Amino acid sequence: MSNYRLDTKCVQGGYTPKNGEPRQIPIVQSTTFKYDTSEDMGKLFDLEASGYFYTRLQNPTNDYVAAKIAEMEGGVAGMLTSSGQAANFFSLFNICETGSHIVSSSSIYGGTFNLIAVTMKKMGIDVTFVSPDATEEELNAAFRENTRAMFGETIANPALTVLDIEKFAKVAHAHGVPLIVDNTFPTPVNCRPIEWGADIVTHSTTKYMDGHGVAVGGAIVDSGKFDWMAHKDKYPGLCTPDESYHGITYAEKFGQEGAFITKATAQLMRDLGSIQSPQHAFYLNLGLESLHVRMPRHVENGQAVAEFLESHEKVASVTYSGLKSDKYYELGKKYLPKGGCGVVSCELKGGRAAAEKFMKALKLAAIETHVADARTCCLNPATSTHRQMTDEQLAAAGIPAGLVRISCGLEDKEDLIEDFAQALRTV
Ligand SMILES: *Cc1c(COP(=O)(O)O)cnc(C)c1O
Repeated sequence: MSNYRLDTKCVQGGYTPKNGEPRQIPIVQSTTFKYDTSEDMGKLFDLEASGYFYTRLQNPTNDYVAAKIAEMEGGVAGMLTSSGQAANFFSLFNICETGSHIVSSSSIYGGTFNLIAVTMKKMGIDVTFVSPDATEEELNAAFRENTRAMFGETIANPALTVLDIEKFAKVAHAHGVPLIVDNTFPTPVNCRPIEWGADIVTHSTTKYMDGHGVAVGGAIVDSGKFDWMAHKDKYPGLCTPDESYHGITYAEKFGQEGAFITKATAQLMRDLGSIQSPQHAFYLNLGLESLHVRMPRHVENGQAVAEFLESHEKVASVTYSGLKSDKYYELGKKYLPKGGCGVVSCELKGGRAAAEKFMKALKLAAIETHVADARTCCLNPATSTHRQMTDEQLAAAGIPAGLVRISCGLEDKEDLIEDFAQALRTV
């Protein structure tokens, strides 16, 4: 599939049936796999042969879908995880251990922020958060001798900042460290971070990739471009023998292209068990088959709604990288030439009270914490996810009380604009 264009990979990547085999990816609903001899099975446990023995580590359905996502991102290997949280944790923990340090953009998803700042900290892994707008000098200054990974989001959820991937990759590589980019919001249809220097790409497939709000999941893709052996002292997990597999060294046995995903599967998935179910992988693939058709419509609706809100007298400001007035318009043009996604945020004049009235009056757009599926939804953090905070605390956190995050779905944009217009009239 590697010679085909992205749209073709969305539809047919990852799985090519042979004569007489199922046309659609089969759901291998089996926890275990049968072998004729113990020797056959032993080879799998020694990582001497590739194959399946237990679905906690690998399952054919998952592997077909992971291979499709890897092709779409322009990577060499991929794996599915039970959630986006698991994908980000595995991508970091595969190369970090107690005593390691991470440099991360501060503009990231709240769940990932907690994962890195609180949970991984308890494991003895330190972090320095940097502004996505930091200069190269400021980014360089955040690195330490024990830094093992740099992390950021292409379009951050919910701040909608656009990451300067080339700048981050350049700094990471100057320190002999890989750049991990969470590409959930644009999806590979709108941005392929590997083409800009990212080494590992992660996804919450729960969002646009699934796209219908049916299955929680995650994915990790390796570019195969990071030379672990050239930084042997930093990555002992990949570059020194793993005694639990009779002393194999991942970077030697599986090479630069196979080491990262093989270790994450054979070691982390074995021990932590955050596998996606084959049924969920099947749903995910249905979403992927139309991703290239859906994303342009999410962008079209997001752009139309953003422009409408920007021109409205009751709206104080709008954040959307497709707007000329947006701080990230130029970076958006560079990294997201086809547009970013359907998520727009706006601040209503009149703060919390205005937002509350606006949300109550919506007819088509539903109130949900979710984003990025076919149906338009909205969230006012001040009255929901962040309701314990005062207006002053919210302002300090960069989440004004009147902020509404809108995830534009696939409906007719005129109906969406009419819904927002009538809701604004009640404010
Ligand atoms: C939702 C989200 C996650 C977490 O994914 P889950 O599938 O909910 O675990 C991670 N990163 C980004 C950018 C997200 O939007």
